Amino acid sequence: MHELALADGVREIVEDTARRHGAQRVSAVQLEIGMLSHVEPEALRFCFDAVMRGSLAESASLAIERTPGEAWCMPCGKAVALARVGDACPCCGSHQLAVTRGDAMRVVDIEIH
Ligand SMILES: [Zn+2]
Repeated sequence: MHELALADGVREIVEDTARRHGAQRVSAVQLEIGMLSHVEPEALRFCFDAVMRGSLAESASLAIERTPGEAWCMPCGKAVALARVGDACPCCGSHQLAVTRGDAMRVVDIEIH
């Protein structure tokens, strides 16, 4: 389950940020997870609660925002929307696609006190 490693990475970012600001507590974390990333939001949520135990962000709320997928289609010569990894171009059916958006996970916002 690679969500555990990802959640641990999030904890590091959150704790680093909180320390740099001299915060006592982190009350909320907002994440962005692309529709084309291989991250399962519910699994990540579960791991998030587990790795935050005992940290500054213990019992912090987690908000997850999904970013839509987008890819550049070679035959069409334009950007097209992509719902899932492995999908074909919705315009021409080609698989000659280069994902340009929605394949990453990042920390968007952290609420500290
Ligand atoms: Zn196409």
